[in-house]
Amino acid sequence: MSPNDPSLKSFIGVAPDGDFPIQNLPYGVFSTASAPTPRVGVAIGDHILDLAVLHGRGLLPEVGAGNVFATDAINGFMALGPAVWKATRARISALLRLDTPTLRDDAALRAAALVKRADARVHLPLNVTAFSDFFSSKQHATNAGKIIRGEASALAPNWLTMPIGYNSRASTVVVSGTPVRRPLGQRKPRNAEHPSFGPCANLDCELEMGVVIGAGSSMGEMIDEATAEKMIFGFTLLNDWSARDIQAWEYQPLGPFLAKAFATTISPWIVTAEALEPFRVEGPVQDPAPFPYLRQGPRRNYDVTLDLLLKTSTMTDHAPISRTNFSFMYWSSVQQLMHHGCTGCAMSVGDLLGSGTISGDARDQLGSLLELSWGGSNPIELPNGEKRTFLQDGDSLMIRGYAQGKGYRVGFGEAEGVITPALAPPV
Ligand code: CA
Repeated sequence: MSPNDPSLKSFIGVAPDGDFPIQNLPYGVFSTASAPTPRVGVAIGDHILDLAVLHGRGLLPEVGAGNVFATDAINGFMALGPAVWKATRARISALLRLDTPTLRDDAALRAAALVKRADARVHLPLNVTAFSDFFSSKQHATNAGKIIRGEASALAPNWLTMPIGYNSRASTVVVSGTPVRRPLGQRKPRNAEHPSFGPCANLDCELEMGVVIGAGSSMGEMIDEATAEKMIFGFTLLNDWSARDIQAWEYQPLGPFLAKAFATTISPWIVTAEALEPFRVEGPVQDPAPFPYLRQGPRRNYDVTLDLLLKTSTMTDHAPISRTNFSFMYWSSVQQLMHHGCTGCAMSVGDLLGSGTISGDARDQLGSLLELSWGGSNPIELPNGEKRTFLQDGDSLMIRGYAQGKGYRVGFGEAEGVITPALAPPV
C-alpha cells in the first residue's frame, strides 16, 4: 500500500486537523532533557519517532549498517539518495500502521522510540550547505515593483523570462523558535541628505516555502526536469526576514546583501516531496513560453495553504494577518532548480532554495508587511486595536501551512520568531 494512501491509519491517534498523520512522516532533528544528544526523528501525531533507536534495533535496514539517524542533521540520510528515501518512508509507514504489531505491541520499544513532541526540543533539521533565494511570485514581484519603482515599471523586463534569484547566507538559517535580533545597518531615508548607521526601522517578514535539495549535481552540468524532480528531498516553511530600509540603500547595483543575511527562519519538520505528491496542481499559464531548458509539465505547483500570523507583546495569541497558497507561484521549485544549474552551478546535499515571497491577487493574500501595509502607508489593524506597518521589538511572527487531503492534512507545523532589540550602534 502506498504510504500516501488516504485510508491508512496509525496506532498513534491523529486529529483530522493534525499536521502529522501517517500520510506525512516529515523528518526533523530533536533532543530531550533526559537524552540531550540531537538525533533524527519523524513527527507522528503528538509524538516523534526516534529513528536512531529504530535503526539500533535493526528495524531500518534500508539505510545500511551506519546509523545515519544518530546525528544532528538529515544530510547523511539524504546523501543515500532517492531510492533509499522512498524505501525508508515505506518502512516507517509500515511500522506505524494500525495493523503492524512490531512497535504497537512492544511497550518497551515504544517507550524507547516514541517521544512526546511537547517534551522535545527541535533543532535545525539539516546542515544548510548553501542558500539561494528566489523572487518567483508574480503578484509579489509586481506589488514590490509598484511600491518601490512605481506603477509604470512594476515588473522588471527579465522577470517573465527566468526565475530571478540571489545567493543568500546559509550561516544564519535558524530553526523556528530562535529569537531574531533587529539588525543594524546603513540606511538613507528618502528625505535624508546623508546615510546613517543604526537599527533597522522597517523590519519585515517574507512568507516563503523552502526547498531542501537532497541530491547534488556536478559543476559544469545542467539539470534537466527529471533530475530536478529527483533532487528535491522536501519542503519547509521559510521566513526570509528583511530589513527594508537597509535593502533600499544597499541593493543597487548588486541586489540584496545584508538586508536579508541576518536571519532566515525555517520550520523544524521537512515534509518530503513524496508526501506532497498527491497535492500537485497546475501552475499559472507562462507567457512568454519558457526557454526549453526551463520547460516543465503543467502540474508543477502544490496546493499548500499558508497562513501568516502576528502576536505583539501585549497580545496572548497570534492573530492571522494573511492567507495565501503555494500554488500561486509563477515559477516552480523545479524550474528554479533547472535555472540554478543552467550555467553549470553545482548543487550540494543540504542546499536550501527559498521560493520567494508568496502573494495572491487579493488584499488578504499578501506574504509581506511591505505589501500588507503598502510600503508603510496603510497600517494593518490587529484584533486588540494595535496597528503595524513593520515589526516592532517583542513582535512574534509565525507562518503555518498544510495541504488538505480527504479526512487528513499534510501539515508543516510552524516557523516562528520573536524580534529582540538591536545592539547599541558604535559611536
Ligand atoms: Ca525573499
